[in-house]
Amino acid sequence: MSTAPPHVLIIGAGTGGLCLAHGLRRAGITVAVYERHRDRAEGLLGYRVGIGPTGSRALRDCLPPELFATFLATCARPPHYFNVVTEGLRQTASFELRPTTDPVRTEHSVARMAMCQVLLTGLDDVVHFDKTFTRYAQRDDGTVTAHFADGTSATGDLLVAADGTHSAVRRQYLPHAVTKDAGTINIATRIPLTAHTRDLVPERIRQGISLIFGVGGVMGVLHVLEFNWDAGRAIKPGVSDAAAALLRDWPGLAHDTSTDNINLIIWSAARRFPADIMRRRGEDLLRVALGLTSNWHPNLRELLARADPASALPIKVSTSEPVPPWKSSTVTLLGDAIHTMTPGRGVGANTALRDARLLCEQVTRATTGDKTLLQAVADYEAAMAPYGFARVADSLNRSGTSGEDRMYRPVVGRLALLGARGYFGVTSRVPRLRRRFVDDFHTYEGDQD
Ligand SMILES: Cc1cc2nc3c(=O)[nH]c(=O)nc-3n(C[C@H](O)[C@H](O)[C@H](O)COP(=O)(O)OP(=O)(O)OC[C@H]3O[C@@H](n4cnc5c(N)ncnc54)[C@H](O)[C@@H]3O)c2cc1C
Repeated sequence: MSTAPPHVLIIGAGTGGLCLAHGLRRAGITVAVYERHRDRAEGLLGYRVGIGPTGSRALRDCLPPELFATFLATCARPPHYFNVVTEGLRQTASFELRPTTDPVRTEHSVARMAMCQVLLTGLDDVVHFDKTFTRYAQRDDGTVTAHFADGTSATGDLLVAADGTHSAVRRQYLPHAVTKDAGTINIATRIPLTAHTRDLVPERIRQGISLIFGVGGVMGVLHVLEFNWDAGRAIKPGVSDAAAALLRDWPGLAHDTSTDNINLIIWSAARRFPADIMRRRGEDLLRVALGLTSNWHPNLRELLARADPASALPIKVSTSEPVPPWKSSTVTLLGDAIHTMTPGRGVGANTALRDARLLCEQVTRATTGDKTLLQAVADYEAAMAPYGFARVADSLNRSGTSGEDRMYRPVVGRLALLGARGYFGVTSRVPRLRRRFVDDFHTYEGDQD
C-alpha cells in the first residue's frame, strides 16, 4: 500500500478549512487553501461565535500548541450567566454558569474575525486569496484538479469543500443535496462598548449571554464582548503575563479589528421584513431593526440606535436536508458545505471544527499505511454525515430559528411564547432541572453520537 503523503486542496479559508490545514500540516501532509476573498480582512464580521468543547478539542488537536494558547488569549471574557429576558428587559430566568480553568470543557466567546486571524496565523505560505473556485475535474490517475475564476488551476490527491453554505464544490459533486431557507432573517449589529452603552445593560446581562423572547415574535440575543486588548491594541491591565506575551508576539493582532462591543442580533420570520432586506445596509438596516422592536425596552432601542452602521448585517438563515450516502472519492466536504444549520444551537462552527479534526485524523492514517486515502475519506464521511445532520435537526427546532416555529403564528404565537418563558422560568427555579440545564449548557458537544 502506498504511503506517499497526499497533497490536499482545500476550498475556503473559513473555520473548518483553516483548522484542517493546520492539522494536516502538523501531520506532515502538504496543503493548499484557496479563498475567494481578496485578503485576510475581507468578509470577516465581528459577530460572536460560541466555541464549546467540541470546537475547542478540535482546535487543541489541530493547531500548534502555542497557537491554541493564542486562541485562548483572544477569547472575550467568558459569560457568567445564561439569561432569558422579555422585550421589556424583565428577567424570566437566569442560570449561573460554572467557572472553569479547563481550556476545553467550557464555552468560549470568540469574535469571528479574531478566530479567523488566529487560524490564518502561520499559514501565509499555503493560503491563496482571490481564488474563486469554479469547478473541478477528477482524473484517471487518481488526482483532482480545481479550477478558479482567474483561469488558474491546482492539482492534488484530495479536494476538500470547506466553502460554506453556498458551496460551489457541493453543487457539482452532490447536485441533489438540498440547502434551503429556514424562513427567518437575522439583523446582526455591534454597539461600541462605552460608559454610556455599558450603563444601558443591567449587570447580570452584561456578564452573560441573554436570549430575548419578545412579544410580537421578535427574538434577540445580546452578548457583551470584552477582549484582553483596548481600542489602541494595548494589552489591558490585569491580563496574565503569559497571555499578554502571546498577544504581543501575535502578528494577527495587527489585522484584527475586534474591540469591546455589545453584539445584539435580532431575528424573526422572514415575512416580517421588507422584501429587499438582504440588500439593505447601514442606517437603513438599523431603521428596520428599530421598527421591528418598537415595543422593546428603551435601553435596548437606545443600543440599536447607537449600533455601528457599518456593522449592521442582514443574514438569511439556512438549513439543509440529510443527503443519502454517496460513493466516496477524491472529493469530500466539511462544515456548512455539507450540513448547513441554523444558529439555533450555536454549533455550526463547532461541527465544522469537529469535521476538520476527524478528516485530519483519517487522512493522516492513510499516510501510515493503515488504510487507503479513499477508505479514509469513506470512513470520515460515514461518521460525519450522521452527526452533522443530527446537529442540523437539533438546531432547526431551537430558539425560533425556523420560520415555521409556532412562535411566529398570529394567535398561537402568544401561547408559544408564554410556554417558552414558562419552561425557562420553571427550569431556573427547580434545582434538579436547573442543574441539568447548566450541565447541558456546558457539555452539549454533539459528540455523543
Ligand atoms: C449570526 C451567526 C451566529 C453564529 N453563531 C455560532 C455560534 O455561536 N457557534 C457556532 O458553532 N456556530 C455559529 N454560527 C455558525 C458558523 O459561523 C458557521 O457554521 C461556520 O463558520 C461554518 O464554517 P465553515 O468552515 O463550514 O464555513 P465558513 O466559515 O463560512 O467558510 C467558508 C469559506 O469559503 C469561502 N468560499 C465560499 N465560496 C468560495 C469559492 N467559490 N471559492 C473559494 N472560496 C470560497 C468563503 O469566503 C469562506 O471564507 C453562527 C452563524 C451566524 C450567521
